[in-house]
Amino acid sequence: LTVTDTKPKAHLPDAQIVTAVKHWTDRLFSFRVTRPQSLRFRSGEFVMIGLMGDTGKPLLRAYSIASPNWDEGLEFYSIKVPDGPLTSKLQHIKVGDEIILRPKPVGTLVHDALLPGKRIWFLATGTGLAPFASLMRDPETYEKYDQVIMMHTCREAAELEYGRQLVADLQNDELIGDMVAGKLRYYPTTTRKETAHMGRITDNLTSGKVFADLDLPQMNAAEDRAMVCGSLAFNVDVKAVLEGFGLREGANSDPQEYVVEKAFVGDGI
Ligand code: FAD
Repeated sequence: LTVTDTKPKAHLPDAQIVTAVKHWTDRLFSFRVTRPQSLRFRSGEFVMIGLMGDTGKPLLRAYSIASPNWDEGLEFYSIKVPDGPLTSKLQHIKVGDEIILRPKPVGTLVHDALLPGKRIWFLATGTGLAPFASLMRDPETYEKYDQVIMMHTCREAAELEYGRQLVADLQNDELIGDMVAGKLRYYPTTTRKETAHMGRITDNLTSGKVFADLDLPQMNAAEDRAMVCGSLAFNVDVKAVLEGFGLREGANSDPQEYVVEKAFVGDGI
């Protein structure tokens, strides 16, 4: 007797298993997946992840890895675009589901792309926080810099919550809580709804408000380094501000004083 009707269960190529999902607002969620054993990455890099599309072809998008490189799992922080080809489906993933993850990390928001400095500024809008969620949890960040300033801007306070909790948890973290204490300065702002701190990152830099609030000298090329991740318009505006302070754009192959990466392609939702 031969058994011919039991085919092996079809698995996605480069499949990883979802281990946790948390919804933050109707347009933001985070999730964790298993990490391929062979995957090495530098905190701040991104990979291609996705789901199998209706046509049987993988539907992949770039995602910053939000977890640090020492974490045994991988975390992502995602937008939900209502009619987005990937996220209209991805937002429904549950623990135990499979996603596709191409294990080829790349990106410019890495320590290697910056010259040594005294302070590092992480400047993000919306899901642009994701690479810094990784870098803020990496001990290397605190070994390299005396001060780490996380500026994050969203429209309303609920959209800041993922970052706010992450920073609070970090300060109590057994592993690197001591390194973080006194070094990490968190500066969240909103642009639409009233909160303690308001305003755009560019305005708070050019007016000098953030330097006054945090009792820091004005940004300068000798001491300050910056990493930028937001919409194309945000990145263009911040670049001009940073250049105004005398910082120059670097890359993996040419380390300088600041680096930039797009948080997404398009105008944003
Ligand atoms: P798409 O067709 O890809 O996008 C539709 C439209 O939605 C876009 O034109 C844009 O206007 C808007 N949009 C897309 N992504 C965003 C966003 N994140 N915030 C606001 N508006 C958006 N997305 C994440 O959610 N988290 C990440 O960590 C992340 N990292 C990225 C890293 C890089 C280098 C790049 C280039 C993009 C990254 N993105 C990230 C965006 C991501 O690749 C997809 O665009 C997003 O998941 C939406 O996919 P979609 O197929 O549903 O819609």
